[in-house]
Amino acid sequence: MSNSKEYVSSVLATVKRRNGSQPEFLEAVSEVLNSLVPALEANPQFERNAILERLTEPERGIIFRVAWEDDHGRVQVNRGYRFQFNSAIGPYKGGLRFHPSVNASVMKFLGFEQVLKNSLTTLPMGGGKGGSDFDPKGKSDAEVMRFCQSFMSELYRHIGQFTDVPAGDIGVGGREIGFLFGEYKKITNRYDAGVLTGKGLTYGGSLARTQATGYGVCYYSVEALKHLKNDSYEGKTVVVSGSGNVAQYCAQKVTQFGGKVVAMSDSQGYIYDPNGINLDVLFDIKQKRRARISVYAQEVPGSEYHEGCKNIWNVKCDIAHPCASQNEMDAVGAQTLVDNGCMAVFEGANMPLTPEAIEIVMKNGLLYSPGKASNAGGVATSGLEMSQNSMRLSWSFDEVDEKLHGIMKQIFKACYDASVECGQPGNLMLGANVAGFLKVAEAMMAQGIV
Ligand code: NAP
Repeated sequence: MSNSKEYVSSVLATVKRRNGSQPEFLEAVSEVLNSLVPALEANPQFERNAILERLTEPERGIIFRVAWEDDHGRVQVNRGYRFQFNSAIGPYKGGLRFHPSVNASVMKFLGFEQVLKNSLTTLPMGGGKGGSDFDPKGKSDAEVMRFCQSFMSELYRHIGQFTDVPAGDIGVGGREIGFLFGEYKKITNRYDAGVLTGKGLTYGGSLARTQATGYGVCYYSVEALKHLKNDSYEGKTVVVSGSGNVAQYCAQKVTQFGGKVVAMSDSQGYIYDPNGINLDVLFDIKQKRRARISVYAQEVPGSEYHEGCKNIWNVKCDIAHPCASQNEMDAVGAQTLVDNGCMAVFEGANMPLTPEAIEIVMKNGLLYSPGKASNAGGVATSGLEMSQNSMRLSWSFDEVDEKLHGIMKQIFKACYDASVECGQPGNLMLGANVAGFLKVAEAMMAQGIV
């Protein structure tokens, strides 16, 4: 047996050899594995049972052709994916992403992160992720429907309420989930409400699922600010990148908690509003009109629009919530936050900080939480949607919100306690990775070599 650092290095070398052309996947795996050394030292049985080798290899990966017809009668072809990463603690669970940047590397990094995230939620869910390089932007509803139907005509044979339960992610919202569910029901002739989450309220969806990820980010942050900085959102200036599902409801909850959100973005640029973003206007632009964020500056006096989404980190703030996409904050952005006196970065997106950005933020003593902990409220509420589907009843908004709040508090506590046990109190990245990992590793040990 080697020591734990050598064990991690040797597994990382194998993962690199097998997945050399998948940078996002390698980035996620090396961040996690490097932080597991204390947990591995305390549990030598994990090395003997090749737990890391198995954790980094998806149980199954499905890649398929998605052919569909556009509004001009032309046949289009996209690529579909589903990576069923780990089912030790429950059926595979994780979103579907429709975005041109989707490839095997992005799918696998998201699937890998999802395993640990789902473990942190305290609910019985394994991890998976899927999607396509299809871009719903600029497509008609009919085109999106035909694409979703074709996508599901393959995916349906791999999913099920006890097997794999997909949900939304970037580019997959209520509209797409509706089309996917309709096709699943037609092909299988089964009303399996629990096969997808993020459904509409008229056919088995959960109240508060739409808000859950963004609200959850803030519930987690409140705990971290209180316990580690004796502070709160009250009176703080906040920057929230992105303006999609997570960003919108994160900004709403920050505002309810007394913070002022002064900047938000989309993939083209960012808006700055020193008076605090008017969320009614923003929601109207993004949810109803599906327009660019630049429209905000045309309509709200005193606000500005700037090209280039990465420059959003130039805006001075106390708290930053990156809620857009992976690697959206690099070393330059992180250093600017530090220089501007920012006190905390809580991720809403998955892996939005590059490894260099994380190092800068942590070295300079900012409070930092990785997305797998602070954005776990979305999948946790998907878990609550599955519970309601199984019981054939619906909880009220307040009931779901209260459960979500309780789960986020527990996630913070699990991360903090693990950071203390590892001798680095307040290192929430270490805490999230170790706490998420231990549950999965123990379940894998119990289930033998599979
Ligand atoms: P969404 O509703 O599709 O919104 C994505 C937002 O990010 C849009 O404003 C988009 O702008 C922007 N964006 C995309 N790529 C960008 C880039 N490279 N740079 C800057 N902005 C970019 O997606 P979402 O559901 O909010 O997801 C956002 C993040 O949260 C993702 O990392 C996702 O995996 C993570 N997450 C989501 C959930 C959930 O429940 N939805 C749960 C956990 C984690 P454009 O409109 O210009 O493309």
